[in-house]
Amino acid sequence: MMRKTSLSVAAAPLGLSILWALSTCHLSADAFALKSRWSTFAPTTLFSQIGLQQQQSTTAATVAKNDSWMTQPLLNPLSQFVKGPKECLVFDTTLRDGTQGESVSASCDDKLKIATRLSSFDVDYIEAGWPGSNPKDAEFFQRAQTELPAEARSKLVAFGSSRRKNVAVEDDPQIQALVDSNVPTICMVVKAHPWQVTEILRATREENLQMIHSSVEYLVKLGKTVLVDLEHFFDGYKVDPEYALACCEAAVDAGASCLVMCDTNGGTMPWEVDQTTRKMLQHFEPFCTIGVHCHNDCGMAVANSITACHAGVGLIQGTINGIGERTGNADLCSIVPSLALHVNTTMACNDQLSELTQVSRYVDEILNRSPNNAAPFVGQSAFAHKGGLHVAAMERNPLSYQHVEPELVGNEMRVLISELSGRQNIMGKLQEIFGNSMDDGQKSARSLAILNRVKELENMGYQFEGADASVHLMMLHTTRGYCPPFQVLDYSAQVYDANMDSASRVVSNLHGGLKSASTARATIKVRTVVDDPETSQLSFVENLQVSDGNGPVDALAKALLKALLPAHPFLDSVELIDYKVRILDPNSATEAVTRVMIEFRDSETDKQWTTVSVDSNVVSASLNALIDGFEYALIEQAQLCMLCDDAFEDEQRQ
Ligand SMILES: [Zn+2]
Repeated sequence: MMRKTSLSVAAAPLGLSILWALSTCHLSADAFALKSRWSTFAPTTLFSQIGLQQQQSTTAATVAKNDSWMTQPLLNPLSQFVKGPKECLVFDTTLRDGTQGESVSASCDDKLKIATRLSSFDVDYIEAGWPGSNPKDAEFFQRAQTELPAEARSKLVAFGSSRRKNVAVEDDPQIQALVDSNVPTICMVVKAHPWQVTEILRATREENLQMIHSSVEYLVKLGKTVLVDLEHFFDGYKVDPEYALACCEAAVDAGASCLVMCDTNGGTMPWEVDQTTRKMLQHFEPFCTIGVHCHNDCGMAVANSITACHAGVGLIQGTINGIGERTGNADLCSIVPSLALHVNTTMACNDQLSELTQVSRYVDEILNRSPNNAAPFVGQSAFAHKGGLHVAAMERNPLSYQHVEPELVGNEMRVLISELSGRQNIMGKLQEIFGNSMDDGQKSARSLAILNRVKELENMGYQFEGADASVHLMMLHTTRGYCPPFQVLDYSAQVYDANMDSASRVVSNLHGGLKSASTARATIKVRTVVDDPETSQLSFVENLQVSDGNGPVDALAKALLKALLPAHPFLDSVELIDYKVRILDPNSATEAVTRVMIEFRDSETDKQWTTVSVDSNVVSASLNALIDGFEYALIEQAQLCMLCDDAFEDEQRQ
């Protein structure tokens, strides 16, 4: 039945439109033949799109006017045909497909925060959930109406599937939930693979086409912009291109604005994406925009998305940091800057590109995930250089080992220091810290001494390449006249447990959860440099503080912060985000040397830094790493670095 040509059926009632379409749109003969497939099942034609588009926009305008929550008229980016690689729309699905990733979970509050951030980053669409599938998503769409800014609301997309078999579209509760979500745009997933239709959906091929058509048509008539996610499209196109195209045509004929080719199982190769995309454009240009949605099962999601854009798709779906089911979705943090900086694609978010690293870290932070340091463009190591030869070349020209300037995506270049690094790396770091206040001769002389010190400390178990802040401080501490903003004069930490019952501790933990009965208390005495605003003189104040905590390190961190806050209230925004302890010589059992690395973050500026310390006593290693972390915060964030004269240095040493 599918193969039977019914050109006459398609052509007869709308012969004039067809002629018009052929003469003005240069529609390919393929598309003409294609029409016959869908029209085997329905009397309307693809070419009625031209009339339908007009009717659709009128309906959309009427409905938009009546939509009380929409305070601003919506400028729908899909009202015009969009074609890459010169232009591309960015469709973010972090809050829908992204949250299907393992151990990714977002509360309704989290979703509202992320949607707001994505909107100010200027993505074109924010797919926020499937209102018909769970109450949390339905709650999101309801709260979004009053809690999201107008611009974010206008970009929201609700996700759903085509109507159920044998159920009228208006009676399908899942479709009704899409209508109730009260957002302007719907992304509807439909089956486009014949085997998936008959085996998984248990529908006939014809029934599936009718389900697609009636579902899209219903929502379009209500004024919604409908994008159609063609599930398993690339696989379906391989086994039965005619049927895959008939599914597309059913959607377009019903008024879909965008056909999104999905590589649902992630097994498609870039050249297959290229060929299929070009075929799709031939068939559907300029009736609707073609989009792409890739999964990363072969590590190809970014490559496939960019290939598709290069071949002509005008919309790319993906997630921030590539989160998503199994190995994840296409990572917008790689796609957007690649398109902007290497393909010269125009996207609405091009102007916000320098916020990309911040957006990536913000989403990780809200979703409580550790950032991927090796992530292209936005990872901490994306522009980090360790090889001495590289660093030497970079001194001459920063682009010698970087494909773009890190600042363009809001990241920064880092020179890593380790025993493997050459003196040039240390010279680079000295340049970063002291600029031109130290001449080349001085830098060269000091770099040798510092390199030797690095080698000595790494031999003891330090590891500097992950701890920029400690390298920075080591360089300052070995600089004559450096005055640290505070000093810890003494400290003590105690742990006591009133209910210790070692025999039954596992059982009691099982019953009482993981809450420990032990308490730790730390006392710390700190001498801080303060700037007297009246006399403009620097002086010292001593401050003794006591704090309780979950363990000795927690108690010490709290006591130290309490002692520093009166003089440096800005430290309030500094938080500890990671604490790692590594036993360096496990054979020495409890006397082993431990390395502690602590990661800090300033929630105001989103800057992160790491410190390292090594000691046979884990508490004192932790305290040293804590001190480094706060000292670095004062120097870097508050610009409190003091290189004082000799007299001041003498006073400090007393
Ligand atoms: Zn997906």
